[in-house]
Amino acid sequence: MEESRIADKNTPYWWEEAPVKPLPRQPLAKKVDVAIIGAGYTGLSAGLVLAREGRSVAAFDAMNPGEGASTRNGGITSGSIRPDYATITRRFGEEKANAIEAEGKIAREFLYDFIRTEGLDCDFQLVGQFKGVIGYDDYEKTARSAEVLAKRLGIEAYAVPYAEQRNYIGTDFYRGGMARMDIGGLHPAKFHAELLRVALASGLTVHSETHVNSIEKDGSGFRVVTSAGTVQARQSLSARTVILTARFPSCAAGWSRFAAGSSSPRSSRRT
Ligand SMILES: Cc1cc2nc3c(=O)[nH]c(=O)nc-3n(C[C@H](O)[C@H](O)[C@H](O)COP(=O)(O)OP(=O)(O)OC[C@H]3O[C@@H](n4cnc5c(N)ncnc54)[C@H](O)[C@@H]3O)c2cc1C
Repeated sequence: MEESRIADKNTPYWWEEAPVKPLPRQPLAKKVDVAIIGAGYTGLSAGLVLAREGRSVAAFDAMNPGEGASTRNGGITSGSIRPDYATITRRFGEEKANAIEAEGKIAREFLYDFIRTEGLDCDFQLVGQFKGVIGYDDYEKTARSAEVLAKRLGIEAYAVPYAEQRNYIGTDFYRGGMARMDIGGLHPAKFHAELLRVALASGLTVHSETHVNSIEKDGSGFRVVTSAGTVQARQSLSARTVILTARFPSCAAGWSRFAAGSSSPRSSRRT
């Protein structure tokens, strides 16, 4: 019997075309403006913006850059907000719900523009997305969500009834669903490699296989203790699948899903 290819697969398929690897060792600067913990999408995108603003920035990653979630994900450029529109409207009111949805739209548009203007070679295609539903009530709810997306945000989104579904995804499995054309896909490991390329070119220093053991407040800055030595930083930023920051608005704008920046004055210790 033929062996399953999946059975002995321990690394992501994405790494076959874009393997993660260590960077050449760099001398550790004694002082930097900003120390970033993590060199996934979050750390690199924040580092890129800060370096382009003329700050000295060092990013540290305990593994190879990208070896976390950033080269292991589905590559869907969704920026979708969970919970769905109906739930956030109930919870926060219509105005805030619209603002939250608009944030996802801005993030997607920012990403597409970023890929285009920087010339990132990451197999990006704006193919659209089909979201299937299981029950009739779900279909009604999804159809209403599509209407809202179209009306409020100008997104090309529409309900797909069961009878037409096969034309979209070649199956009768779902009870209909929604199609929206503002979502696409990319090769996540290639995207990370390209982001790394432009971030390095912008002057960001990336230390791979360098664990940040602790960040301690030190006068007006931070003492960042890494496995390769200690760095004084005016500001530190934890970039480990985290939340947007108010402190670095220029990093935060537009990078909601694929890349987010977060400042962390808190101590971070190896566990
Ligand atoms: C299975 C899966 C599928 C997904 N699919 C999608 C998708 O289709 N579309 C989408 O938009 N998003 C998707 N995501 C989410 C997306 O991958 C993440 O939001 C994104 O990669 C987060 O990037 P990051 O830089 O914050 O985190 P990461 O890429 O995880 O980077 C964090 C880095 O921090 C480093 N680190 C942690 N602690 C330390 C320390 N103390 N010292 C030094 N370094 C440290 C880690 O080594 C790691 O490399 C998916 C996630 C997963 C897991």
